[in-house]
Amino acid sequence: MVTPVQRAADRVLRGARLDREDARALWEEADDSLLQRLATHARARFHPPDRATYVVMAILNYTNVCVARCDYCAFYKFPGQEGTYLLSFEELVKRIDAVAAIGGQLIGFNGGFHPDLGVDDYCTLFGRLHERYGESLAFYEMTIAEFMFVSKRSRLSYVESAARFKAAGTRWITGGGAEILDDAFRLRHSPGKYKVEDYYDAQRAVLDAGLGSTGTMVIGFDESFEERLNHLDRLRAFQDERIASGGGRLSSLLCWTYKPWNTELGGQEVSTREYLRHLALCRVYVDNIRNLRTSVLTRNEAALQGLAYGANDFDLPTEDEVTQKAGATISLEFEAVLDAARKIGFAPQQRSPWPIGGDEARA
Ligand code: SF4
Repeated sequence: MVTPVQRAADRVLRGARLDREDARALWEEADDSLLQRLATHARARFHPPDRATYVVMAILNYTNVCVARCDYCAFYKFPGQEGTYLLSFEELVKRIDAVAAIGGQLIGFNGGFHPDLGVDDYCTLFGRLHERYGESLAFYEMTIAEFMFVSKRSRLSYVESAARFKAAGTRWITGGGAEILDDAFRLRHSPGKYKVEDYYDAQRAVLDAGLGSTGTMVIGFDESFEERLNHLDRLRAFQDERIASGGGRLSSLLCWTYKPWNTELGGQEVSTREYLRHLALCRVYVDNIRNLRTSVLTRNEAALQGLAYGANDFDLPTEDEVTQKAGATISLEFEAVLDAARKIGFAPQQRSPWPIGGDEARA
């Protein structure tokens, strides 16, 4: 008699696709060493066994003004509240130069849903930044969540808006702001933000415009395992659709954990073990995204254990106010962080900040 977990394991080893029942069986019954083994097997379809890559990056939070009111967010301030800010171009340049001075390769912008900013404001900013920095730095210009808000605010379709961003030199609109892509979850925690299909409509427009994008996921709020699975299922189906279309596809999946400090939602942070098991599940279940990224930003050195659970890439972060406000700590002792990878048999290599290997032609 073959048990559900044996059936699931056999499927991974044969390179067959897992269904929800397989995922449940692995999550509930597989021990850590089996999950590690299966994730490592699935990882080897795309990457040499001891290879791990990273970039040094900062997330610059250009404004904390936000009208979305997500209950899991410790960062935002509602318009008019004390302590709001919107960084000027000069202030941004100062911050970017400081990141570049300590070896930063990639700057990701992430801000709130500012009611006074439209698509033209962002395009002007990105145009000026690209003119100033050329190819010396890479940018994740914005997230899908910001893209959706600003497109609606400017009364532009996602297709029109993506075309304008492309014309302004934008290269990346990452999948950030996804948290858990499940409508029941979204209704509980951020009802004003967007619905799941809307998110994918926006991401489709971004990829069709020739911009790069990524998958993201955050665990550890109060989501059920079924809601996590809904997220992974929909993500995998979307990537299937992209591959079938022959157009741009998601180049990576980054998963991190919710930080509960100073938020309205509160709660407790998930354990490292749960995070690592979840990474393994991402690797074996989402079989069509080649790069799985582990989050040093939210798990520090422990994130590097994720390389043994299917991850192949990570960031060395230098700042991010959003997660730091909610309890994340950042170490600039990069060598100590990298040693955590070396100790478990990986040889971390700094990579180009441009799209991760294999998907260059598509981003
Ligand atoms: S998570 Fe983002 S969209 Fe939600 S309140 Fe915070 S800044 Fe606004």
